[in-house]
Amino acid sequence: MIESPLLQHLKGYIGGQWTATGEATFDVYNPATGKVLASVPSMPVEDVRAAIEAGKSALRLTEPYPIETRRLWLEGIRDALKANKEEIGRILCLEHGKPLNEAQGEVDYAAGFFDYFSKTISGLAAHTLEEKPRDCTWTVHYRPVGVVGLITPWNFPIGMIAKKLSAALAAGCPSVIKPASETPLTMIAMFRVIEENVDLPRGMINLVMGKASVIGKELCENPDVPMLSFTGSTEVGRQLIIDTADQIKKLGLELGGNAPYIVFDDADLEKAADNLIANKFRGGGQTCVCANRIFVHEEVLEAFGKKVAERVRGMTVGDGINGDVDIGPLINRAGFDKVREHLEDALQKGASLVAGSKPEDLPKDTLFFPPTVVSGVKSDMACFREETFGPLVPMVPFRSEDEAIDMGNDTEFGLAAYVFTADEARAQRVAGGLRFGHVGWNTGTGPAPEAPFGGMKASGIGREGGSEGLFEFVEPQAVPRGF
Ligand code: NAP
Repeated sequence: MIESPLLQHLKGYIGGQWTATGEATFDVYNPATGKVLASVPSMPVEDVRAAIEAGKSALRLTEPYPIETRRLWLEGIRDALKANKEEIGRILCLEHGKPLNEAQGEVDYAAGFFDYFSKTISGLAAHTLEEKPRDCTWTVHYRPVGVVGLITPWNFPIGMIAKKLSAALAAGCPSVIKPASETPLTMIAMFRVIEENVDLPRGMINLVMGKASVIGKELCENPDVPMLSFTGSTEVGRQLIIDTADQIKKLGLELGGNAPYIVFDDADLEKAADNLIANKFRGGGQTCVCANRIFVHEEVLEAFGKKVAERVRGMTVGDGINGDVDIGPLINRAGFDKVREHLEDALQKGASLVAGSKPEDLPKDTLFFPPTVVSGVKSDMACFREETFGPLVPMVPFRSEDEAIDMGNDTEFGLAAYVFTADEARAQRVAGGLRFGHVGWNTGTGPAPEAPFGGMKASGIGREGGSEGLFEFVEPQAVPRGF
């Protein structure tokens, strides 16, 4: 079992109290060892309603929290996360499996969103228009949407909530937060450090854990929750659109990806290979922005494949808590099996193994999946069509710029894409042609707090981060004044 000063209360948090009704619990596992880390409450619908009520009591509409107050909340959370980065990162590493330095880096990344919005929150101040249409003076206010439901996935246990919570608090929205059932401990730890260090009004942040069906249903159906912000699979995002349609709730959806990584024949292949390794194997390949299909110009396919294979052979897979590990375990058996099935399917349909493991040699009793590279991948293979979410690198040859753009776009997803070329005009054309919300040119970097991030097509609705993300949790209200 896990021991931590940040996990003294293995409970939900409602109206400023650690609480949970009933006896039902669920176990949280360390994917590196298979051992139980903790049991946490599976909270009933009554607790979700209580959390929403607590949120309502913290919502201030007629006398909003001043911007200066909200700025102090954001700065306080930033500082508290930074001060507790090592312990929060350790908990995150144990329940997620990603290497310890990556887990602690994620806490820094999370703090960055509170920092960025603390510096830009003045953008939410009311302003008066210079024009005076209809002989009126017009003031535009940015009102908090209300109590918001925030639902997050396991792959970034603190990064994903930070994007939402920083913007919700900047707007003055109380929240009811549901973490993924694989990784609730990082969230409990975050609540603990906020409680200890930041003077938030009671009910401003509330934590509920347990069955997604119970919590999600209440957040969708309760009329006191006018907005849901969700990060997770496209499948669940679609369901949330349906479940909130009656009430026409505001939705922020950050959904699945199927990122193309396009390497042209004029690219710096060393750089493209280094960036691919950093991008692809972050979180063990379990990120929404991980390169999922690697399109390589046929002239450089062999040379590039060799460079990637060399790097992959030098990577270590193991328990992330041990420090010098590049890749941790996959999150659970279902996740492991999906990557294995994609590998099997590709090899059966004619792809060739360049580096890594044959399906029959994969470990049977652990979740450590070796980084694996396959070449000759085609569009009818599962690893081309679906998000693999694991350390499999499928390489697809292409001949022309148009073909690369067409194949890149041949997916319902539109989250992240990458293009490597020395030709600026080509990079601009390709970025314009790719229907993705984030397109890295000669870099495999993912999102940053300062830039808007989100998906086109089935990858989502709305943006997080950047000045765009600051406005996600407000309702602009125009107040014309007549004379
Ligand atoms: P998931 O299965 O959709 O779960 C995400 C969250 O939704 C979890 O908290 C889950 O709770 C909850 N949930 C499940 N069913 C629900 C329902 N019917 N109503 C309300 N909530 C429900 O996704 P995941 O496997 O955790 O995460 C991986 C996916 O997230 C990938 O597709 C990845 O690409 C995507 N992702 C996208 C972004 C982005 O920025 N676009 C970032 C990170 C991840 P339980 O854990 O209790 O089931």
